Amino acid sequence: MQTLPNAPQTASTLDSHPIETAIRRRKTRPVKVGNITIGGGYPVVVQSMINEDTMDVEGSVAAIRRLHEIGCEIVRVTVPSLSHAKTLGDIKQRLIDTYQDVPLVADVHHNGMKIALEVAKHVDKVRINPGLYVFEKPKADGGEYTQAEFDQIGDKIRATLEPLVVSLREQGKAMRIGVNHGSLAERMLFTYGDTPEGMVESALEFIKICESLDFRNIVISLKASRVPVMIAAYRLMVRRMDQLGMDYPLHLGVTEAGDGEYGRIKSTAGIGTLLADGIGDTIRVSLTEAPEKEIPVCYSILQALGLRKTMVEYVACPSCGRTLFNLEEVLHRVREATQHLTGLDIAVMGCIVNGPGEMADADYGYVGKQPGYISLYRGREEIKKVPESQGVEELIDLIKADGRWIDP
Ligand code: SF4
Repeated sequence: MQTLPNAPQTASTLDSHPIETAIRRRKTRPVKVGNITIGGGYPVVVQSMINEDTMDVEGSVAAIRRLHEIGCEIVRVTVPSLSHAKTLGDIKQRLIDTYQDVPLVADVHHNGMKIALEVAKHVDKVRINPGLYVFEKPKADGGEYTQAEFDQIGDKIRATLEPLVVSLREQGKAMRIGVNHGSLAERMLFTYGDTPEGMVESALEFIKICESLDFRNIVISLKASRVPVMIAAYRLMVRRMDQLGMDYPLHLGVTEAGDGEYGRIKSTAGIGTLLADGIGDTIRVSLTEAPEKEIPVCYSILQALGLRKTMVEYVACPSCGRTLFNLEEVLHRVREATQHLTGLDIAVMGCIVNGPGEMADADYGYVGKQPGYISLYRGREEIKKVPESQGVEELIDLIKADGRWIDP
């Protein structure tokens, strides 16, 4: 079950203006995707995508379940053909029969009208890419589009999109208008170039068609593989939506982020920067690794920004010449013993010179006191000095005595 996040906190003031230490999220409309809500002040939703062939029902069901069990709240599947779209009906049913009803999104690409219409019967949200939804032949003369040509294509898009919008509206389902920097429509490229403006106008064109059909269960994404482009596109989208009185939630992601440490840092740089501005209602970290690897990254970004709390928050000093014990080893032991106590903040600090002051209001502190001894803290209060060899056990006893321990 999702719960509403805490109200923003204020920690200090400067010239009588309160300085907020919690992120104030941009107000967006709630969009329901199965039993999950994106936007509307609900916690930022974590999603990922399976890479099984959707024709493989058992393999897809198992992959969706694996992701859902580790916290992926919405799972995306790709639907390259009409048979794939029909098979999703079996996948959805099999999930309900053998596990539970997992919110599913179908990714529809090239010329996907028939596919989208079929898949809309079986999933909770359909993702379309405006750049690929209606095929536009590149202009033979390479010249500019006249207004008449522009409008003609606009009419074709409208005619193609309308049945899908009506179907989703009637079923109370959602749509993601998912623009990709790398696949902008030809005429958007001619008019705006390969720019954030082109991405934003491309999304707006589709949003306006949806609104004219009284459909507003829309989530928007503007992904790019270059982080500055992605950040600029989302910021511009927010500005344009504010001007137009739109409040659609945003799905954040950096495409083709790669793998390993750099893939994670790149995703965090893009997604984290926007989240820190209060922008973003659902995230996907795209790694060139098993999708299960993406979920912990999503949660770490959200936890680091104070947007969701899904694990113990450890505060630990980097250690220095004053450190009185092997900090890396002790942090490891403390983590092993306490990592199931979700919700707690625990600090491990090398010395009492700076440690207690820098524990950032942790619930408990383990601080080097003098050679061979550490001190345990509850908040800012020093509770007891114990031999270092008993430090971790004593910390557990203190948490138990406070009634905040649960067995792993
Ligand atoms: S808390 Fe103490 S040991 Fe840790 S880095 Fe700061 S001064 Fe060094």
